[in-house]
Amino acid sequence: MNIIFLGAPGAGKGTQAEKVSEKLSIPTVSTGNIIREALRTGTEMGLKAKSYIEAGKLVPDEVVIGIIKDRLAQDDCKNGFILDGFPRTIPQAEALDAMGIVIDKVIDIEVADDKIAARMSGRRVCPSCGASYHLEYKKPEKDGVCNLCSAELVQRKDDAPETVLERLKVYHEETEPLKDYYAKTGKLRIVEGQENVADTTALTFKALED
Ligand code: ADP
Ligand code: ZN
Repeated sequence: MNIIFLGAPGAGKGTQAEKVSEKLSIPTVSTGNIIREALRTGTEMGLKAKSYIEAGKLVPDEVVIGIIKDRLAQDDCKNGFILDGFPRTIPQAEALDAMGIVIDKVIDIEVADDKIAARMSGRRVCPSCGASYHLEYKKPEKDGVCNLCSAELVQRKDDAPETVLERLKVYHEETEPLKDYYAKTGKLRIVEGQENVADTTALTFKALED
């Protein structure tokens, strides 16, 4: 099964993508994670993306389309995959179609802007392995420390409140039109994001069935 997760930044699509990935044993491909990894290791692509990501802007289409082409060509994507954070623009969706990739379901996680802004302030990430946490909704076992590698958790630069507002603006302008794009194909399923992660997961699993 090939699945796309849509939704505003911080709506929790990454968390839901992971749950579905475990259930269906197919990999999650997160362009955000791939770009942040490139930033950490200082690759050429990372350097190109840095100013965009830190300002809350989208990385240029040709860069992310290149990332996705390479990633989806890998062996572990043969039996299906979950896209988290791609496509984010109409040209990105068209590029996916042009690659001949057939999408089975598009899950859109809906959360209101004011809730998102509040949630993002609690998000923390591991600078070493990239794992993500939340002060309220997804606490690490030990405060401020990564469960997986024990590094000290930090706030992402692009989770600063001003940048979050810019990211929401970009989402409404560039990404939200994808809802119509996929509604027309009959593959869009809307999930109302709940306060509780497990409740959202239950709705997500149900949405994948119909
Ligand atoms: P979020 O957690 O807000 O959904 P991501 O981790 O998916 O954010 O992405 C963080 C940043 O990475 C974006 O603000 C953008 O700069 C860049 N990025 C990720 N995916 C894409 C994409 N498909 N197109 C353009 N830029 C992207
Ligand atoms: Zn870690």
